[in-house]
Amino acid sequence: MPDIKEIGERVKKLRELIEYHSNAYYNLDSPEIEDDEYDALMRELRDWEEKYPELRAANSPTVRVGGAASGKFAAVEHEVAMQSLRDVFAMEEVEQFCADFPGAQFVVEKKIDGLSVSLEYTNGVLTRGSTRGDGRVGEDITENLLTISSIPHRIKTDAAFLEVRGEVYMPRKTFAALNESQEENGRKTFKNPRNAAAGSLRQKDAAITAARGLDIFVFNVQQVRGMAFDSHSQSLAYLKKLGFPVSPEFVVATGFEQVAAAIDAIGTQRGSLEYDIDGAVVKVDSLSLRQSAGVTTKFPKWAVAFKYPPEQKETILRDIEVTVGRTGVLTPTGVFDPVLLAGTSVSRASLHNQDYITQKDIRIGDTVVLRKAGEIIPEVVSVASHGGGEPYLLPEVCPSCGEKVFRLEDEAALRCVNPECPAQLMRNIIHFASRDAMDIEGMGPAVIEQLISAGRIKSPADIYILKEEDISSLERMGKKSAQNLIAAIERSKGSDLYKLIYALGIRHIGEAASRLLADRFRTMQALMDAPSESFAAIDGFGDIMAESVVDFFSTAHAKDLINRLTALGVNMTAQSQENENASGKLEGLTFVITGTLEGMTRDEAKALIIANGGKAAGSVSKKTSYLLAGENPGSKLTKAEELGVKVISLEQLGEMING
Ligand code: NAD
Repeated sequence: MPDIKEIGERVKKLRELIEYHSNAYYNLDSPEIEDDEYDALMRELRDWEEKYPELRAANSPTVRVGGAASGKFAAVEHEVAMQSLRDVFAMEEVEQFCADFPGAQFVVEKKIDGLSVSLEYTNGVLTRGSTRGDGRVGEDITENLLTISSIPHRIKTDAAFLEVRGEVYMPRKTFAALNESQEENGRKTFKNPRNAAAGSLRQKDAAITAARGLDIFVFNVQQVRGMAFDSHSQSLAYLKKLGFPVSPEFVVATGFEQVAAAIDAIGTQRGSLEYDIDGAVVKVDSLSLRQSAGVTTKFPKWAVAFKYPPEQKETILRDIEVTVGRTGVLTPTGVFDPVLLAGTSVSRASLHNQDYITQKDIRIGDTVVLRKAGEIIPEVVSVASHGGGEPYLLPEVCPSCGEKVFRLEDEAALRCVNPECPAQLMRNIIHFASRDAMDIEGMGPAVIEQLISAGRIKSPADIYILKEEDISSLERMGKKSAQNLIAAIERSKGSDLYKLIYALGIRHIGEAASRLLADRFRTMQALMDAPSESFAAIDGFGDIMAESVVDFFSTAHAKDLINRLTALGVNMTAQSQENENASGKLEGLTFVITGTLEGMTRDEAKALIIANGGKAAGSVSKKTSYLLAGENPGSKLTKAEELGVKVISLEQLGEMING
């Protein structure tokens, strides 16, 4: 048994960990661990605090709700606190809960995995909508909520004032489509529908929210004036009559057996629903019984949330397929005997990289345990037993072009560095033609794939020698669409220099860095001739980026490509005036960056900040306007919190620039 000092230290560590992950989840909309891992931390902390009351604290995450309101929107003080729910993980705990209310009627509902909001109606008109925030103070997001088509703007009610609470969510199909388009446009993808919903709802530009296809289920009357209800089920029926999408298929149950049956029934539907749920909620139905049960600082005593364990299944790993991405990274994918997990058949899962495979000792022929992380992305939890195969090693040569692959310093991934590798070509061309690059409308993956397999495109330069017949002969391409595509290709020749630089897909050179390069060098030739020292003078341009540019242009392949593009009439000079591209949106603001950002290096982020008029500093001080935090932030995060410096995600930075 550890002594009290050791337990005290563990409690402190748990609080720090929970704090860190709460911030990532609630404020940055970018969780780094699975919900069940987070719940386990919370449960351990709760257990210690229960056993050792002297270790309890008023600001412990066990007694606080959610994350603080961000300051991005006006604050809304909730007249009736928007509380959390007490989690239970075993049926015995549900049984105990039911036993506390002998003879009572319960309502069992799906626990929708989204974002809690309040909607206030004055004389039947929606006057305000807000987020939960820390339960007492939330954010005013009325504009954004008005864009959700299933939220009534007016209701026919006798209530002079009615406040309802609901969960805004993103349907699974919408989520899949959103991520697909984010990926196609080279934007950050979301980890799960809950984060996508949170990120979409808390947008400064309500037009973005409107485009994201959010929906809502309403599950509670927070307060009502001018009428009254006796029970929760009665209030839900009333909300339904008013036209609200109400907590779907809620069940009224008496006694533990009926409650347990309802929980089981929801559990079996879980994977096949059109939206994510993360549990079932059991609530006392009678409102007067609720009143006498009361609340704690964090949750009501008249309800519990039953959390289903993540579904896991065993299957056999039949093969490991290795593919090559645009940047040459080799990605191993496990191919399994299909199993049904969270409602869909799963037969493939990413095995990420060699380290991941070695750590879990995954071999072909093994029986492995699979689960869906966040109910969506399948992953290997562990190896149950080996099937006699050898330890697996990724190939030493590229599966696409046969050239030797390399492991670059500080990277877990193996890379093929052959610029002519055909697997990379497809992704390179998609990037080249994409909107933020050369913007060739109509040149999507399907067209590109056909042109590559017909041998018409072997390099981006080949796009500019395409003829109408090359295109009209492709599947689903008529004469008209071929003419349109040729016209779009022709137009793209005049693209500004920074777009072309970006289109080349140089490692570490994103759009912002491309703008800095175009501003500084003005012509492609000057950029190609630039000695590595000359990059140091560009504010916001790091050593790694400079090295990457110099390396890129030192290859015969790059020189040849630029020569061909020039000969084919592609513009090679900057048209916009110096700094014209910069938005100036971050003028007067100082940023500090910490942690690993998704889809961008810190240098690239720095370039982006500077290109938009902001300043980037190395350490957090009172003068810092924002800390831009990614995964595994360092001590800068603690410092920022101490000084009250606002912490933002890369996505939020994007909103500041574009919004
Ligand atoms: P909670 O999500 O467990 O429960 C409360 C919420 O449930 C309410 O805000 C409410 O809006 C919602 N809800 C949905 N359907 C409902 C219904 N029918 N009736 C009543 N409420 C309903 O509590 P929480 O405090 O919001 O957040 C904790 C959750 O967030 C946990 O699931 C936890 O795993 C997750 N989390 C994860 C991380 C991470 O890093 N992965 C970090 C923080 C929190």
